[in-house]
Amino acid sequence: MMRDRLDPALFSLRRSMIREFSALASAAPDCVRLTLGEPSEDTPAAVRQAAKDALDGGQTHYIANNGALSLRRAISEFEKERFGHTYAPDEIIVTAGATEALFIALRGVLSPGDEIIIPAPAFVLYEQQALLCGAKPVIVDTTADGFQLRLDRLAAAVTERTKAIVINSPNNPTGVVYDRESADAVCQIAAERNIFIICDDVYRSIVYRDDCPAVSDLEEYRENILLVQSFSKPYAMTGWRMGYLACHESIKERLELIHQFITVSTPAPFQDACIAALAQDVGSFVAAYRRRRDTALAALRGMGLDVVTPDGAFYLFPCLGEGVDSAAFCRDLIARAGVALTPGVCFGAEGYARLSYACDDQTLLTGLDRLSKYLKKG
Ligand code: PLP
Repeated sequence: MMRDRLDPALFSLRRSMIREFSALASAAPDCVRLTLGEPSEDTPAAVRQAAKDALDGGQTHYIANNGALSLRRAISEFEKERFGHTYAPDEIIVTAGATEALFIALRGVLSPGDEIIIPAPAFVLYEQQALLCGAKPVIVDTTADGFQLRLDRLAAAVTERTKAIVINSPNNPTGVVYDRESADAVCQIAAERNIFIICDDVYRSIVYRDDCPAVSDLEEYRENILLVQSFSKPYAMTGWRMGYLACHESIKERLELIHQFITVSTPAPFQDACIAALAQDVGSFVAAYRRRRDTALAALRGMGLDVVTPDGAFYLFPCLGEGVDSAAFCRDLIARAGVALTPGVCFGAEGYARLSYACDDQTLLTGLDRLSKYLKKG
């Protein structure tokens, strides 16, 4: 059978259960979905208009591999103004979402047999992409530390083969922003072992505090850092598949070849749209998320659920109780209460569930009400 001749790495991959649960929820009549990993709003009109203008203006040809210079300049300025980053346009590769940027980062850094530290709970992509590279994902459980990173646990996971660590703050699925101690812990192991720090900052624009520390801001680790960004979440552009990778020029010079040979370039008509996106004020989106976070947090605690206060993204990650089978719980919740959450097991954290409040207020309130009644019935 030709199937047996496929790359064995493909057989180590697992399908995401997130899709399975979204499908279950969609199939259930009148089910309220608190499973969305994306804003429910459409892309802002100015961004859509920029794409239409680009198409009408004839921007339908091949463009520079790493993205139009005008877009890379706009990203470089945005990163400087918003976060104080010093990436030159030539240190930026515009990619097909953060997903491609992560793949370039992992494929560029990991050789078969290398290890990559992944703090969990985590977005599924990192582990699967690492497996695809023939590398070994080393999962570090953060649940006992309020989902923060602590030096003892990270240091215990480091071996001779450790090549990189992925950090995602604000985090999917917990919404937690890493504190200063977490950032220090990452820096300490990165410095001692000279490992790469892959910063998945896709939720960075959705934070509810001004003083959120970020490893990606640390200039002294500039050569270790691979910064992954996306247009998907802050600008409600998930379907556009636009993101970028920013890193030190010496590294980018090799990494860009991966992008060149798998994607060539991102779509020409989307370059101006992304420039328009960067000019958007996302303040009103963030204010609405913050309001919904406060509502949902108070409601979950009122139901007696233990939940860490998230400072960003649009997720809450309540504990369902020790030993609770999160997939069975979420299946039953859909069937008997008509509300869908994503089981924690999808993120490597059994006994938890992810609630997304990237929906409208009414959907959130109805979902919380149904969850509360379900828990009361027991
Ligand atoms: N990183 C995290 C933490 C995410 O939650 C997601 C999407 O859900 C991605 C990366 C992928 O984003 P993109 O749509 O830009 O590929």
